[in-house]
This record gives sequence, structure tokens and C-alpha cells, in this order.
Amino acid sequence: MAVFVLDKQKRPLMPCTEKRARLLLERGRAVVVRLAPFTIRLKDRIGGATQPLRLKLDPGSRVTGLALVRESETCDRETGAVERLEHGLWFGELAHRGQAIRETLGQRRHLRRARRSRKTRYRAARFLNRTRRTGWLPPSVQHRVESTVNWVKRLRQLAPITALSQELVRFDTQALQNPEISGVEYQQGELAGYEVREYLLEKWHRTCAYCGATGVPLEIEHIVPRARGGSDRVSNLTLACRACNQRKGNQPVEAFLKRQPALLRQIQAQAQAPLQDAAAVNATRWALLNALKTTGLLVETGSGGRTKFNRTRLDLPKTHALDAACVGAVDQVRDWNRPVLAIRATGRGTYSRTRLDRFGFPRGYLIREKRVHGFQTGDWVRAEVPAGKRAGVHVGRVAVRRTGAFNIQTQDATVQGISYRHCRVLQRADGYGYAFQSKPDAEKARRAA
Ligand SMILES: [Zn+2]
Repeated sequence: MAVFVLDKQKRPLMPCTEKRARLLLERGRAVVVRLAPFTIRLKDRIGGATQPLRLKLDPGSRVTGLALVRESETCDRETGAVERLEHGLWFGELAHRGQAIRETLGQRRHLRRARRSRKTRYRAARFLNRTRRTGWLPPSVQHRVESTVNWVKRLRQLAPITALSQELVRFDTQALQNPEISGVEYQQGELAGYEVREYLLEKWHRTCAYCGATGVPLEIEHIVPRARGGSDRVSNLTLACRACNQRKGNQPVEAFLKRQPALLRQIQAQAQAPLQDAAAVNATRWALLNALKTTGLLVETGSGGRTKFNRTRLDLPKTHALDAACVGAVDQVRDWNRPVLAIRATGRGTYSRTRLDRFGFPRGYLIREKRVHGFQTGDWVRAEVPAGKRAGVHVGRVAVRRTGAFNIQTQDATVQGISYRHCRVLQRADGYGYAFQSKPDAEKARRAA
């Protein structure tokens, strides 16, 4: 994993290798600023040459992939073709907490509803007095946009990022329909197949059109078989599971579904209806794009079909971080086999000071102060316990208790009852938890074994 480097005045320089960072620290030329993402500051340097870096994002509902790459372009002497080369520097996966936000808001709603019927039954109902500003998103979704933008800002403080890339849509409708815009190769070439597939998955709701099976590998199916003159147009394509595809074979759809006239009519109607403006389907991604534009950096957008095409062509394993590296126009990716920093949005504690049992009765009360002996829940600490049942070194996220006997959540377990006297803060709580993931190819090898 590349190490982020700041100069004496905390301005970002080019990231360096772990080895170089180790040497700089050993010689006393640098100090550690942060542990995750690992950042050092040079004590004797102001300014320096930087190269253009690009931060690439693959936004997902649960996890957003982050890839920081250095770009270079090579030009073929003979053909004059320009190749876009990427060197992976740093990879991260940001896990959102949309589900947790949704649950706590649901809890609050139930609580208020119950209180209204208990305490304010005679108060007249209010209605039609609430407005939502334009561009409003549910809090759980807004959080995804905000935490992603937050990480773009954080990384900009650590590295000289000059451009962004974001996967904006699942598939590029213009590439499917408008050959003039993207050129014939894009329309008819290999890439078109990926865009078509993503389009069909969306259009047919990722199910087999004939038996309704979900969660199985789906194949592209010609409604009027090609052997009978059926075309490759999107309106003649659907998705079918392996079994249905084989069973249908070369039959026309009318013969195959002659015992199910209702299904036949439905499939024919759905095949003709184009998918509603696919770009507008995902409001989150557009909100993110608009937020990214406010950074002032140039934002390149790509489609999911293109990402998949790049990943398959470059033969990279499927991870969120590597998907991010494949967003947009890429010809080659180098140095992709690096560990990934797993970033988990944890929040900063709860406002409510009363813990409830499952019936809604108070079970206990939380302390009013966030700090206990200088520690705060969420701090990353290292505890060296000299003796006793829990003797040893524990590193992890601390949960403070008023008594001073803390819980530490380490990589594999929660250790309870560690005195504050043994703890030392490694990094202050910042709303995120960190873990290091091994290299993706090691994963791949283990899966294959
Ligand atoms: Zn089927």
C-alpha cells in the first residue's frame, strides 16, 4: 500500500512506497501523521514535483470502491494510438451505514407515534405543512453521498489529486442506440455486448423471463431465434436461465409458450417497451456527481457495462476497489495487486442517553460526557496489559465505560474490562473504523483451492 506524504507545511506530495517511508522515519526525516490511511510528514521539505493522480469511485449501496491511480499515456510510434495506463497506488473500500440510519430513524418514528397516542391524543393533527427541498434524498441515501464526498476531500488533503472518475450509470444507453456519438466500434464491438447485458439485466429485473428464477446465471436469449431470422436488436432479446434457454432451443416463442398465453403476452409487451430513462433511475449517483463537481476537479463518468468490460478484459478479480480502478476509459492497469484499506462508517455515537429494552422500557442510562480519562468511544487504541487474565497486547477500537474498564474491539474479538491505565491512543475517533484486507489475488487463490 502506498504511503501518503505531506510536506513541512502539510501540503500533499506524491505518495511513496512503504520501504521509502520506513527509511525516512528511521532517519528521523519524517513523522507519522495518521495510521489509516498511513500518512507521514516530511520535516525538511517544502513543496515538490507532483504527477497527476486520479481518484476513481465505484459507488454502491453498501460499499463504495475507491482507487487512487497515477495515470500515464503511451503513444504507439507506428499507429499513433494512445494507450491510457494506470498505476494503482492506493485502494480502499468504504462501507456505508445506510441500513443503520434507516433502522434508527424507523425506531424514532415508532417511538413518536406511540407517544402521540399516549400523551397528545387531543392535539389536532398537523398536515400539509411540510415541504421537502428539491433534491431531497432519504437520510440513509444522503449519508452515502456525504460520506463518499467526505473521503474525496480527505484524500485530497493527503495526495495531489487532479481528476476524479465515477461510475454514473449501469449502462450507456447512447452507446446502444446512437452509433454516431461513440463510433461504430463502440456500438458493434465487444463493449456493446457488456452494455447490452447490463441493460437487459435491468430491464428484465434480473430474472429468467420464462420461469421467473432469480439468483441464477442468466443467458441472453433471442425471443425470435436467430435461426428463424430474429435480429440482435435489444427489443428481440431477453434473459433466460440455462434450463429454459436449452428447453426453448430453436422454437419460436409462440410455440414454446403456447400453454401460457398470459406469460407470452407479457413477455412480448415487455420486450417492445423500452426501459424508462435509465440514467434517472439512480438518483444517488447523480447527487454524488453533482457533489463531486463542486470540488472543482474534472469528473469523468463511466458506465457499469464499461467497468465490467474493462475488468474482464484485464482479467482482474471482482472487488469493489478494483471495480473502481476499471471505471471509465482504461487500457491497462498496473500494480493493482495491493492490500485494500477497509473503511467502515461507524457514526459518532447516539444522541439518546437512555438505552431501551425491546419493549421500550428504560434499561439503563449512558453517561453525559463523551470522554473518560481522555479516551472516547471509537478511538483506536493499543493496550499493553502486563499481567492477569487478559495479559498481552490488544489493538483496536475502544468503547469507553465510566468505570475506566474499557472494551476493545480487536480484529477478531472483543476484549472486555481493560483498564484505561494500559491504553494509549493511536488515532482519535473520526467516525470511521479501519481494517486492512489482504491482497485480492491471495483471496482468489484461496477460493480456487
Ligand atoms: Zn428459467
